Amino acid sequence: MKASSASGSEDAQFNPFHMAQAQLDTAAAILGLDPQIHALLREPLREMQVSLPVRMDDGTVRIFKGFRVQYNDARGPTKGGLRFHPDETIDLVRALAAWMTWKCAVVDIPLGGGKGGIICNTRELSQGELERLSRAYIRQVGRILGPEMDVPAPDMYTNPQIMAWMADEYSVLQGHNDWGVITGKPLIMGGSKVREDATARGGMTCIREAARLLGIDTRGMTVAIQGFGNAGRHAARLGEELLGVKVVAVSDSQGGVYNAAGLVPAEIITHKRATGTVLGFPGAETISNEDLLQMEVDILIPAALENQINAHNASHVQARIIAELANGPTTPEADEILYKKGIYVIPDFLCNAGGVTVSYFEMVQNAYGYYWNAETVKERLDEKMTEAFHAVHEAAQKLDVNNRQAAYCVAVQRVADAVRLRGWA
Ligand code: GLU
Repeated sequence: MKASSASGSEDAQFNPFHMAQAQLDTAAAILGLDPQIHALLREPLREMQVSLPVRMDDGTVRIFKGFRVQYNDARGPTKGGLRFHPDETIDLVRALAAWMTWKCAVVDIPLGGGKGGIICNTRELSQGELERLSRAYIRQVGRILGPEMDVPAPDMYTNPQIMAWMADEYSVLQGHNDWGVITGKPLIMGGSKVREDATARGGMTCIREAARLLGIDTRGMTVAIQGFGNAGRHAARLGEELLGVKVVAVSDSQGGVYNAAGLVPAEIITHKRATGTVLGFPGAETISNEDLLQMEVDILIPAALENQINAHNASHVQARIIAELANGPTTPEADEILYKKGIYVIPDFLCNAGGVTVSYFEMVQNAYGYYWNAETVKERLDEKMTEAFHAVHEAAQKLDVNNRQAAYCVAVQRVADAVRLRGWA
């Protein structure tokens, strides 16, 4: 999704890794973090850049560029998704890998943070080309992956089928099935129940808890969702099912739709599946992504790209709660504006941690070869998210800081403790 009309000179210079480092620096100052540990946590421990030759359908060979960043493994094997995106850069992958480190720490699962990606446009690739590209990535990067080292998962424009090809390629290289190397797999290949909608489901737990704290009933609350990929689509459905909210606006990379009377999530999902976009949904008004962010709604859910709520538009945001299902949707400048306006922000690496939490459950199930039923996964996910939400809320109260800074303080302290105990700094 493009940054729509929010783009300006600030966006041209926007560097997500610098933003991630600035966020860490603020937390380090609040915590009075040891300067050596701070220095270690500002940079990735390891990173790999690869060239991937792929035979295209027309017989030619095209070279794609791929990345894997293992940001920090003080608390356990690095964990994080793979993005297939035309605008992928090493600094974006570094930022996302840092955020994975804080994400796993804030929900207190025994994993570090990593991230990877390939510069490509999946819309321009055939299924065969996509499969060969996925396998080529594992042939290069597989040497630094493994259930005890680094475990990828789906992210933007990757899905269970891609995870299945990658798990297969890795297993072929190992000479035996090794399902725990990757999560978000199809159920039949060692996937976990509830993984598919886990990111959105975890976000719903956070919204429920935030509404409780604010003393408001979620039933009938209006919601606008930016982005209609895995996170946004399931948020629309689960918001209605679990919280009784009314989804009034949704968007995707092509634009958005609005209906004050409410959009039926199941119908809009069907429409998007049939036409490839939410645009043209019967009975709805067309809006831009920028309009959507500034709508008068109770809950705003950014579920698309980074840098969407920034210094240009933050003062126009009218929502009472912002539940960030995207990674990095809000810049530090915007954070300050939102905090002053009294908007309750559920920060990204807390709000969207449900995905990696169920990925962790998937790894546990793979290690035991014993699979849980959907109710067990849902209960354990809810427990983890509720605990993490309250740990962050309490830190915000105690330290008198905004929720993002509080989430950083909780997570960074946990990683720093592991670094210190291991004798790294
Ligand atoms: N890509 C997801 C995220 O950003 C999930 C990562 C995972 O399951 O490892 O949190």
